[in-house]
Amino acid sequence: MLRIALPNKGRLSEDARDLFTDAGLEVRGKGERALTASLGGEFEAIFVRAADIPEFVADGAAQAGITGIDLVLESGRQVEELLDLAFGRCRLVVAVRDESSIRQLSDLHGRPRVATVFPRITAGFFAAQNIPVDIVPVSGAAEIAPHLGIADIVVDLTSTGSTLKVNGLVEVATVIESSARLITCVPAGDPRRAQLDELVDALASVLRARSRRYLMANVPRVRLAEVQAILPGINGPTVIDILDGGEMVAVHAVVPAATIYRTIGQLKQLGCQGILVTRIERLMP
Ligand code: AMP
Repeated sequence: MLRIALPNKGRLSEDARDLFTDAGLEVRGKGERALTASLGGEFEAIFVRAADIPEFVADGAAQAGITGIDLVLESGRQVEELLDLAFGRCRLVVAVRDESSIRQLSDLHGRPRVATVFPRITAGFFAAQNIPVDIVPVSGAAEIAPHLGIADIVVDLTSTGSTLKVNGLVEVATVIESSARLITCVPAGDPRRAQLDELVDALASVLRARSRRYLMANVPRVRLAEVQAILPGINGPTVIDILDGGEMVAVHAVVPAATIYRTIGQLKQLGCQGILVTRIERLMP
């Protein structure tokens, strides 16, 4: 049975579990603190720190894993990315003290000290920019380093920017954009890849479904062309006759979730009735 390394705690753990559950691979462990669990009887999950997952996957202790691409790059280990999972989105940024006069990388001079949990990525980034720096590796809370005088600037993860702000720091550059990824060390052509490909299809179908809704509406036949223009669907909407529907027909379509509010408003204006919107569990085009 293939083994998949999942984050045991922290920001990525709940989203990773939810994704497997939504794909029909429920996490069944012996209690909250179990170190292993079954994933729907198809895979074995092992729960480890997100930062250790690139290592576990590269070493073959697990055949696949879920972790942030920031941690994969920092590990320097060779693994293959199978799927961007769209959660755990954040950016690794260069930040400076609010009161400093630095507002862009070109304002840096001398040999600034950079506190970071990501020494490898940070060294690579500044080398590529031809900016000499001294790296101050820390294992957490890098944002306090400038205030303690142990560093001039930081390279740290942010998503909303609020932690930086609270700590009196401002962003001056983005180093990388990160999100959670499914990674593997099983080479293409290996018989185990078929099972991983199936997993990728299942997870991708859940991710696709999450960003879409299934919409049904009764539409005046005379407005059909206008409704079709705003409801492209996957292959165009399904149009169904309604028994005793008179001048109305039923239209079903898969629509983007992000614009559903506006879509409903437009449909109402076109005289549509009985509008119904539901979530989709999985979507395989
Ligand atoms: P953990 O330290 O276990 O909570 O996991 C940290 C990982 O979560 C990071 O390496 C990123 O991949 C991801 N992440 C997503 N948003 C953030 C954020 N705002 N700050 C830190 N890590 C984040």
